[in-house]
Amino acid sequence: CGIIGIIGLAPVAPLLVDGLKRLEYRGYDSAGIATLTNGSIDRRRAEGKLVNLSELLERQPVDGTIGIGHTRWATHGRPSEINAHPHANERVAVVHNGIIENFKELRSELAAAGHSFETETDSEVVVHLVRDYLEKQMSPQEAVAATLKRLEGAFALAFVFAGRHDLMIGARRGSPLAVGYGEGEMFLGSDALALAPLTNRICYLEEGDWVELTKEAALVHDAEDRPVEREVKQTAFSG
Ligand code: GLU
Repeated sequence: CGIIGIIGLAPVAPLLVDGLKRLEYRGYDSAGIATLTNGSIDRRRAEGKLVNLSELLERQPVDGTIGIGHTRWATHGRPSEINAHPHANERVAVVHNGIIENFKELRSELAAAGHSFETETDSEVVVHLVRDYLEKQMSPQEAVAATLKRLEGAFALAFVFAGRHDLMIGARRGSPLAVGYGEGEMFLGSDALALAPLTNRICYLEEGDWVELTKEAALVHDAEDRPVEREVKQTAFSG
């Protein structure tokens, strides 16, 4: 339902939770974040209101400087901590807005290839596909591009990768996703409001685009994986 991503300088957990608060108006049943701790994917998820996630983070803090966050409005799989995003394995974590229409076919294919599933969601197939491609020695960028070609439906996605403090990937098809430009930090948000206090320089991805973010730059690709320029706009919000 709501997505925020930050690749930055400071510990991101409080900034991710603030971003999710600004997305609360969209409605949600659970929330979660993933960051990297010593290069490993580290998740915190909670059913119900964001205060539950905040309390969990007080008990079990995280201090990574890259991360993704999500408020979920369940479409496939009941509202629960297990079904809450981010979904993850040892290689990659993802947050997803929308619906993967062909998830049943993908799930059967992946299950037949030996993958076991933890959740009841449509979204979980995404991390299995990406891991498979990474294990075939693809780069994260290649693995995401290959995964996107397998997905049908409407989605906005944000990814972080184990061992990669310097890389976040976003993708959109049918659900909005914006890139926010900071000074030595970059952001992803499912709407500009999520990014409002962080930056007023925003680029809306176009249909089929995916983007690789470092702390300094955003490299946007179209649905055919060609590098493309997208206009960066000054929003009315002050940064
Ligand atoms: N279809 C996904 C799920 O049910 C994402 C829902 C959303 O957009 O929050 O987990």
